[in-house]
Amino acid sequence: MATPKRVVIVGGGISGLSAAFALLEPARNKQVPLQCTVVEGQDYLGGKILTNRRDGVITEGGPDSFLTTKPAALALCEKLGLSSQLINTNQEHAQTFTYSKGRLRQFPQGLISMVPTKVGPLFHGGLLSWAGVVRMGADWIIPRRARTNDEETLAEFFSRRLGSEAFNRLIEPLVSGIYAGDANELSVDATFPHLVELERKHGSLIKGALAMQRARPSQKPDAKVRTLFTTLRGGLGDLIGSLTERLSDAGVSLRRGANVREVQALGSQAAPAYRLELEAGDGLEADAVILATPAYVSAGLLRPFDDAAATLLNQIPYASTLTISMVFALPEVKHLIRGYGFVVPRVENRSLIAATWSSMKWAERAPAGQCLVRCYLGGRGREHLLDLDDAELTRRACRELADIAGIQSLPLRTEVYRWPRAMPQYTRGHRERVRRIRERIARQPGLYVTGAAYDGIGIPDCIRDAEQTSAKVTAYLWDCVP
Ligand SMILES: Cc1cc2nc3c(=O)[nH]c(=O)nc-3n(C[C@H](O)[C@H](O)[C@H](O)COP(=O)(O)OP(=O)(O)OC[C@H]3O[C@@H](n4cnc5c(N)ncnc54)[C@H](O)[C@@H]3O)c2cc1C
Repeated sequence: MATPKRVVIVGGGISGLSAAFALLEPARNKQVPLQCTVVEGQDYLGGKILTNRRDGVITEGGPDSFLTTKPAALALCEKLGLSSQLINTNQEHAQTFTYSKGRLRQFPQGLISMVPTKVGPLFHGGLLSWAGVVRMGADWIIPRRARTNDEETLAEFFSRRLGSEAFNRLIEPLVSGIYAGDANELSVDATFPHLVELERKHGSLIKGALAMQRARPSQKPDAKVRTLFTTLRGGLGDLIGSLTERLSDAGVSLRRGANVREVQALGSQAAPAYRLELEAGDGLEADAVILATPAYVSAGLLRPFDDAAATLLNQIPYASTLTISMVFALPEVKHLIRGYGFVVPRVENRSLIAATWSSMKWAERAPAGQCLVRCYLGGRGREHLLDLDDAELTRRACRELADIAGIQSLPLRTEVYRWPRAMPQYTRGHRERVRRIRERIARQPGLYVTGAAYDGIGIPDCIRDAEQTSAKVTAYLWDCVP
């Protein structure tokens, strides 16, 4: 019997679990015995994916859905036999609002993908002044930016193309919703590279978006139509549950409540191996180690191997956020809520980044007669909110729901989820930083990093990166480890 190849994955979030899952098939095909362990510091698996089910209400502490335009998460659901459980957003409520100048105003259709393709509706909604709409339309004629190595921030890029009013009122709240970040810091090349490309190719974002619309193949009549975002009927926790089950069935050891304190080198440079010291006092040995942890954790674990890589990892800043899920009696709020919810531009100086009417957006989130609302707070520059206690946070969120949406009643139930240092910020220089991190770590055979810190923070990005990392691990294990 061949000696098993030993892999330890640190971090049991979606990145770590999907990296483990991606190791199974190649090992089976090659008939190589694999000894894989996922080590998770918390006493539950899933990391940011945290679904709670109670009294018929399904709340999501972290992400509530994922993009369908990036295929990796859909493909993973297919492999796990979960495709039939994927649900679309409720189409009869397909509208989003933004709080602007004292009231909720409808967001223009199509803007969710960041580029307005119809300027007309903006004239009617009162979202922008006439001058702001005209300035935005000028994107059509403003020349493309000359090629340069200078990276622009999101604020610079969108203000240059669409004007500062359109940026502040339309684009900034969407960016805050995705990255919980400050658009004056985030790099457009690292966060929305396809928009930079759109400008390069078409000379205008609006022209580019329209060209893309025309080029999109028409949907085959029998194709399963998916909305831009999807989730699982029972919540995203089912993705974690299903992965966990498949990994356990395949003999992967899943250790919860086991924080990795240190990684040490064993063996020689030619045949390296690693020992992972756990806070509990025991240790694990491995031929390959995947660090699927936040960049600042990976920095600490990698420091003994490569000081410069650790320093670069520590340069990736993180934003802290929190979500508050509230259940209301439906008759008390029904007449006040429309669409999927609303976003709040930073210029409005509120605590809320956004609020989602979860039970309007998704089916089966709350029993009949109840309404589930999810508030999103915190983010870059507003991290102090995490220091407030649950009661004060709930009071603030309720006050803003009252001001903005007119909801005066008190929630029947509330759940607060704090996410300190949760959202990596792809600031100027991020892509180059990641290139250098990967280049340096590649010099250490058998050590790998994956996760939200590098090439995309969304769930599909994390899965894709984890799968690519596992492909490198298998190539290394089969070719280089005796
Ligand atoms: C509030 C919120 C809302 C979001 N909404 C969406 C959304 O709607 N759609 C979407 O696509 N994305 C969303 N995201 C982003 C997405 O959820 C995350 O980027 C993704 O889940 C990160 O997965 P990960 O496995 O890379 O990291 P994590 O989930 O952070 O997993 C890393 C794991 O490593 C563990 N760990 C850390 N240190 C150690 C150690 N020393 N030893 C052992 N284990 C350790 C941690 O406990 C954690 O479980 C959201 C994120 C947040 C916070």
